[in-house]
Amino acid sequence: MPAVNIALTPPPAGQPSVDHLIQAIVSGESLDQTCNTDLAAAPWDFDARPGYGPGSSMGDVIPTDAPRQGELPASYRDASEEELDERIRAAKETLGDRVVVLGHFYQRQEVVRHADYVGDSFQLANAALEHPDAEAIVFCGVHFMAETADLLSRPDQAVILPNLAAGCSMADMADIDQVEECWEQLEEVYGDLEAVDATGRVPVIPVTYMNSSAAIKGFVGRHGGIVCTSSNARTVLEWAFARGRRVLFFPDQHLGRNTAKAMGVPLEQMPLWNPRRPFGGSDTRTLEDARVILWHGFCSVHRRFSVEQIAAARRDHPGVRVIVHPECPMDVVDAADEAGSTDHIRRAIAAATEPTTFAIGTEVNLVQRLAADHPQHTIFCLDPVVCPCSTMYRIHPGYLAWVLEGLVAGEVRNRITVAGEVAEPARVALERMLAAKPAAASPEVAAGWENAS
Ligand code: SF4
Repeated sequence: MPAVNIALTPPPAGQPSVDHLIQAIVSGESLDQTCNTDLAAAPWDFDARPGYGPGSSMGDVIPTDAPRQGELPASYRDASEEELDERIRAAKETLGDRVVVLGHFYQRQEVVRHADYVGDSFQLANAALEHPDAEAIVFCGVHFMAETADLLSRPDQAVILPNLAAGCSMADMADIDQVEECWEQLEEVYGDLEAVDATGRVPVIPVTYMNSSAAIKGFVGRHGGIVCTSSNARTVLEWAFARGRRVLFFPDQHLGRNTAKAMGVPLEQMPLWNPRRPFGGSDTRTLEDARVILWHGFCSVHRRFSVEQIAAARRDHPGVRVIVHPECPMDVVDAADEAGSTDHIRRAIAAATEPTTFAIGTEVNLVQRLAADHPQHTIFCLDPVVCPCSTMYRIHPGYLAWVLEGLVAGEVRNRITVAGEVAEPARVALERMLAAKPAAASPEVAAGWENAS
């Protein structure tokens, strides 16, 4: 698989920290607000408890079999920020090229400053490909990202997730058993799902967002489907419509809806599939007319953004440029000036030649970092309440020090591996994505969706 060299270099030390801001809010030094004062505690205080922990996903229901993190030794829990910094630096220096540390855009500053690369999940997986000699890839992100890195890396490379409790509530919303059941029900409605019609297309193509488990990527690979990112979702949907009359899109309904709507698919042809209801809660006629069946999943970080926040930003900052992530609900995307992936947001700000005020609808750690990187602009998070991603928050320098010092001692801790029977079709789905090109597309796309039957 070809490497794509788009990873970023880490930011300099000394940038503002969301953690420090939360501590200041809780101590009363800052008048800002946070969604949960427990965010001022350490993540290990929550590892033994069920749930996603404090932050944006705290209200989401966690699967009973979600991985839990064992107890972190006291020498890490009790260490100061400065001591952990020093221990991480020392371990990295000892390990040298034997290890690559990857930091997702949404990670806390105290972790990101130790990353060799900072980027989105796919950029980081590709960055790891540039280090085929590294014995270990430490992925400071969430579980599905470490799985993707394992799929793309060499079999003898160990991919490590510093805290096993760092899942992703959105990825967890597409459970493999529910997806298999959905597929069986779609077969009842559409008949043989592999039967090709006169236009050369099957009844439905499954498409999964990168933010899904390896099991879901494997399912998609086995059924002629494909993976997408928030950067290439439109190209991937064009690929799918050239091969299928419909798309089953999971887990993020908002990315699916926003992308398909921009392609001209009418909203009434995008029913929501609720896995807890027979046939997803739709009647047969609706499913027959459907062009995109949207799985009932969402990101609790991006669901916090609202049209009211955009109105307030426009009122308080005349001329503000509002950019939101396509995981935001449709009304928010419609009210914004533009929508795009984290990479799009970063590039749009970097490309602004005049001092500009930006209101950004994505995770607060990235927004804070962008504000620090571009002091010529005024950049703020649309959400006035500080509410980071609950699961990204679970990665703390204490865990990073613990896994790195484990490697120094010859012990691989928290290795993430994807079993072969899942890995093989999951790689197929990823390879299809890498090969997908903007299409001349299906008859419906070419003719306009109003004419679709
Ligand atoms: S920001 Fe949303 S999609 Fe990303 S890891 Fe957090 S919950 Fe999952």
